[in-house]
Amino acid sequence: MTIAARTVNVTQETVALLDKIGVDKALYTGGDMASYSPVTGEQLAALKTDSRDAATAKIEKAARAFQAWRLVPAPKRGELVRLLGEELRAVKTELGRLVSIEAGKIPSEGLGEVQEMIDICDFAVGLSRQLYGLTIATERPGHRMMETWHPLGVVGVISAFNFPVAVWAWNGALALVCGNAVVWKPSEKTPLTALASQTILQRAIARFGDAPEGLSEVLIGDRAVGEILVDHPKVPVVSATGSTRMGREVGPRLARRFARSILELGGNNAGIVCPSADLDMALRAIAFGAMGTAGQRCTTLRRLFVHESVYDQLVPRLKKAYANVSVGNPLETTALVGPLIDKLAFDGMQKALGEAKAHGGAVNGGERVAMPHDKAYYVKPALVEMPAQVGPVLEETFAPILYVMKYTDFDKVIEDHNAVGAGLSSSIFTLDLREAERFLSADGSDCGIANVNIGTSGAEIGGAFGGEKETGGGRESGSDAWKAYMRRATNTVNYSRALPLAQGVSFEI
Ligand code: NAD
Repeated sequence: MTIAARTVNVTQETVALLDKIGVDKALYTGGDMASYSPVTGEQLAALKTDSRDAATAKIEKAARAFQAWRLVPAPKRGELVRLLGEELRAVKTELGRLVSIEAGKIPSEGLGEVQEMIDICDFAVGLSRQLYGLTIATERPGHRMMETWHPLGVVGVISAFNFPVAVWAWNGALALVCGNAVVWKPSEKTPLTALASQTILQRAIARFGDAPEGLSEVLIGDRAVGEILVDHPKVPVVSATGSTRMGREVGPRLARRFARSILELGGNNAGIVCPSADLDMALRAIAFGAMGTAGQRCTTLRRLFVHESVYDQLVPRLKKAYANVSVGNPLETTALVGPLIDKLAFDGMQKALGEAKAHGGAVNGGERVAMPHDKAYYVKPALVEMPAQVGPVLEETFAPILYVMKYTDFDKVIEDHNAVGAGLSSSIFTLDLREAERFLSADGSDCGIANVNIGTSGAEIGGAFGGEKETGGGRESGSDAWKAYMRRATNTVNYSRALPLAQGVSFEI
């Protein structure tokens, strides 16, 4: 399959979009760090990497901003985030397009990512009036015990290329209403969307009026710059999204200085298709979960267990969907599958497919799709029928590979489902109440996200997002995830004239 050469220059379009969003040209020209588009492989910009001194100065500026911001009443802080939501709405089309250019997402997913930013802003605005603590019964007469929640300080955010802006918004919107300053180290593969998001927030800050300078900072660079953020003593919490490898480095570094971590790491997500499943529904959910975003979501469906009684009905249809799916330039076609982020991702995919074959896997697809741009990597998503859960099936390969396995016994399939390192997302397709409830129960799926009759990907912001085991255990976004960005104080107030001690202890002087 060959797709016609582009008529519009991606670099020119990028500059036009950055201009429209209001990003200062000096920030992305003449620097030492090249940024590329996976769509064509061409260089988009040259940003300036933050030196150690520059990064440290930004973190310290944010720490000073925090001193003032923590005193602003939370509902007023919510007003800033409300304005951010408004500013995002105004440039949704431009920012969504930039996400497509920089991360290679198809248009609806690029726009969907910006919508997610808007949604979390709405959520955070409501939250700004609900940062509540408990009042707790005390054993001492004339006393009152309660919890209060206070801001923490500078929240560090490290993000991955595949959700270049939404992850910052998930963390940033909550951190800001909670009274913190934010310093963001975006992926070195997607720095332009970060500059754009920061510019949009600065516009909201200008409209807000009296927010302290340095409330939001962006650090440009690779992991070395991320390490500066991780090690800085004025950063009490770092939310780090990326590979499990990254988490293994970042987690212990933070623990060494007793800083908090919110780790959102790799997934190796599975689905189970049971005998009673609605196969039409399962087919659609599997196709989106496994091939959407070219298999580059942390929640991408990577392992599929199909009951032997429905295997021959479902898997041939799935293979057909794989054979027919449109792969192409997301900027100028209606293709459903865009490019891989880079050559490294392509090489990783080919290696995993080779290993799968060596373990007896039957590979369908996975080959490179010919394109006019030799530096861009487009692939046919791969469906691999595996005799067992072995070799590469046990690891996350960040590419569109779906390993399909047959199962017979429900207890055994739950065991296999949980027998990998990662624990992010999972789903079951069944109309049998017992199977569905078992999957959601304590001896069911061991993941942070467990779904029934929907796929593994495409979470909403209202729920807490994150996973267990090698996924890192962090939670972001909805529910009570805000608590990770605040510190809890337990307060006891004595309004009596006596001083009774707890547990009946007596200490008369
Ligand atoms: P990556 O680990 O290569 O990089 C992620 C970020 O971490 C980048 O900003 C990078 O510069 C930084 N980084 C890497 N090593 C670091 C270190 N030692 N110290 C400080 N910073 C460091 O990941 P990627 O390739 O950009 O993204 C893909 C991975 O992210 C996949 O494994 C995917 O599952 C995962 N991911 C997880 C979630 C989630 O919520 N669980 C969401 C998106 C992506």
